[in-house]
Amino acid sequence: MYFRISARELITRIASIIIASGVVGYLLGHTFLAVSVVSIGLLVWHYNHLFKLINWLWQGKSISPPQAKGVWGRIYDGLYRRIRKQRLKQKQLNERIRKFRDGAEALPDAALVLSSELTILWGNKKASQLLGVRWPSDVGQRIDNLIRFPEFSKYVNSGNYDSPCLVISPVNNDLQLELRMMAYGSDQVLLLARDISKIQRLEQMRRDFVANVSHELKTPLTVVRGYVEMVQSSGSALEPHWQKAFTTIETQVSRMDRLVEQLLVLSRVENNVENDDHLPVDLSRLILTIVEDVQWLNQDKNHTINDYIASDIKVRGNEHELKSACMNLISNAIAYTPANGVIDVTLRNDGHKIRFSVKDNGPGIKPEHVNRLTERFFRVDMSRSRNTGGSGLGLAIVKHVLNHHNAELSIESELNKGSEFIICFTLPIAD
Ligand code: ADP
Repeated sequence: MYFRISARELITRIASIIIASGVVGYLLGHTFLAVSVVSIGLLVWHYNHLFKLINWLWQGKSISPPQAKGVWGRIYDGLYRRIRKQRLKQKQLNERIRKFRDGAEALPDAALVLSSELTILWGNKKASQLLGVRWPSDVGQRIDNLIRFPEFSKYVNSGNYDSPCLVISPVNNDLQLELRMMAYGSDQVLLLARDISKIQRLEQMRRDFVANVSHELKTPLTVVRGYVEMVQSSGSALEPHWQKAFTTIETQVSRMDRLVEQLLVLSRVENNVENDDHLPVDLSRLILTIVEDVQWLNQDKNHTINDYIASDIKVRGNEHELKSACMNLISNAIAYTPANGVIDVTLRNDGHKIRFSVKDNGPGIKPEHVNRLTERFFRVDMSRSRNTGGSGLGLAIVKHVLNHHNAELSIESELNKGSEFIICFTLPIAD
């Protein structure tokens, strides 16, 4: 129900009251008095309602405004309608907030809503349990005042939240947390913390298991190899079928030996995550040595190996691991390129990146296989790989080495044309 009044209508109403009072006054012989009395009465009536309205607005407890007739009744009705509308909106908003909070409480992870200055606005119960955030005393605190770990401060200050940050829970040293931050809305940041202690423990158990099994296999393999070599070198002529059997045993034992060796390297590299023995490594010299060393691998294939190695390029890292990664790429190129191929080994400084690449004109790799090459035991062609003595662990080792050397592996390959394996080292590069 809408109430509208125009200026014309208002003037007409006032004029008709004054004229009516004037006419009555005239008939009684007191025109001015009558008009004055009616005008003052009108003023008193309006002021009375004005006071009532002010009292209700500032001191009234009820949501319904005072009752009145005429224009003031319409004004009060309009106000009441507005209040009811506002209340309804507020109720809907509260309902939405309640639903959002219920959803956030149902999350298995800790969730914190932060302002763009990274001060705490809101969080769920899990946030209290995992991060020790207290309500409401911690509202308005900066998150890095509560989670005081250097790695977290670095993560927060970097402003790059693409990958998660791993920290120990500030309330329980046994809990390992994975923190993820993401900007949302116009100026808010959501922080999610997940307890990954169980996953980490399982991962550690897996790593220990592989390392222990590989280690335990080494002794029996050495014994078997020793006996096989003893029999073969004893000089006694073996019957041809025994000779063949011993040759096969020797080949398979060598394969297992290489596999066990690679597994041990992979476990060592995987367990060496907290790598603080990063020293300047002369990459130029290291790669030149590898190129010289691999010549004996190249005897059968007789590839042309070109090296374009810029001098004096240094990176910070573990020399042993870097050697293993670069060696893997060059020996793969030698192994998978058919005889008399061309292999280019390049090392150069792009200004902000150091680029090491091994390019061959071998068989190339199908695009659908390229992304899977760094998976453990993945081999494009089992039989070809087996012939080359491959285990499928080489590129997995390369990936793990690069993970803690601020470096990335990229692979460009075209079927029947060749492949290029590129390692890019980003800062910090050694001085
Ligand atoms: P492997 O020990 O079998 O060589 P890697 O992890 O080093 O294991 O390599 C995985 C697979 O990637 C290999 O089995 C091979 O099929 C493919 N591969 C690696 N390097 C090359 C290359 N330069 N050219 C073609 N295929 C390659």
